[in-house]
Amino acid sequence: MKKLIPQHIVDLQPYQSARRLGLSGRIYLNANEAPWNTVANYKNNNLNRYPDFQSKELLKKYSKYSRVSPHKILITRGVDEGIDLLIRAFCVQNCDKVMFFSPTYDMYSISADIYNIEKINIPLLSSFELNKHAIKKNLNNIKIIYICNPNNPTGNLFLKKDMVDILNFIPKTTLLVIDEAYIDYSVNNSLSSKLDQYTNLVILRTLSKAFGLAALRCGFILSNIEIIRILQKVLAPYPIATPVSELAIQHLHSGNIQKIQGNILKILKNKEFLIKQLKTYSYIQRIFPSEANFILIKVFQSKRLFNHIKSHGIIIRDQSHKLGLENCLRISIGTMSECKDLIHVLSIFEGKKNIQ
Ligand SMILES: *Cc1c(COP(=O)(O)O)cnc(C)c1O
Repeated sequence: MKKLIPQHIVDLQPYQSARRLGLSGRIYLNANEAPWNTVANYKNNNLNRYPDFQSKELLKKYSKYSRVSPHKILITRGVDEGIDLLIRAFCVQNCDKVMFFSPTYDMYSISADIYNIEKINIPLLSSFELNKHAIKKNLNNIKIIYICNPNNPTGNLFLKKDMVDILNFIPKTTLLVIDEAYIDYSVNNSLSSKLDQYTNLVILRTLSKAFGLAALRCGFILSNIEIIRILQKVLAPYPIATPVSELAIQHLHSGNIQKIQGNILKILKNKEFLIKQLKTYSYIQRIFPSEANFILIKVFQSKRLFNHIKSHGIIIRDQSHKLGLENCLRISIGTMSECKDLIHVLSIFEGKKNIQ
């Protein structure tokens, strides 16, 4: 077996997704999903035929939502496939490198490892901002820079000025990839308006988070016609299953988008409610500012708190193993009743009798 498997695959640490971790409980606040299920009935009598390579109708619908021309969009199996495709299409082993900024989403590092591409990890500053000085000094052979905005698991947005500065000082042969998985919660902060100005800018989007369709596995790459054409070359022959694109089309109707926007406002309201309550617990040391549908908190004894919450059937995400995030836990924002349930469980830990 040792001889069968390439060394970089032997060494590979696969992504510890919420599903792979497999914790079970009553309430799941561990994967930043939407707490509401919006999927309508689905019927199809066309499954004997291969799907379109890219559904024109879906491109049109997402174009309308994102205000990016359909020719500049690629439909993918979620952001995760987008991260992978970019490395697959643009990186040469033993030559090109990818850069990212910890603590952040793990798949930039894992995808680089899968293709045995060298990684440069520039830690975020203690304020969770980008270290432009260090980025500038380490650009040698960097083919792709991944920025997650808003960042997971910290929840903050990066300064638009910093990202534009980076676009201005990197070579045109380095791609700046902005993972906007959570941008629907803060849509004015998208960098999509810069796509026409910078030929090396790529944006990743998904229906998994605010749109509440994580099971669909549908995402989008926004860039320019040339880059989309290159990515199309390395895409699988029939990448998007017909039920996926048809359900995605159904959910991108303007009426449904309005409903999603209503849900986004509810999540933001629930987040404010939860933050207000969290501030009253003495064992919570810090609540980091969040522009997404989750919050990161720093506590005394994160393991104990995590296990307490778990023992009451609520699953959140332990982030304490990540660079600079000792004793940090990440909580996805659920429905109001889930938030209240969590607060009740937290108040038991505090030894408080009552809430509100
Ligand atoms: C959840 C998440 C993803 C995965 O998105 P899919 O579209 O479901 O593949 C990608 N990036 C970040 C930052 C995420 O949090």
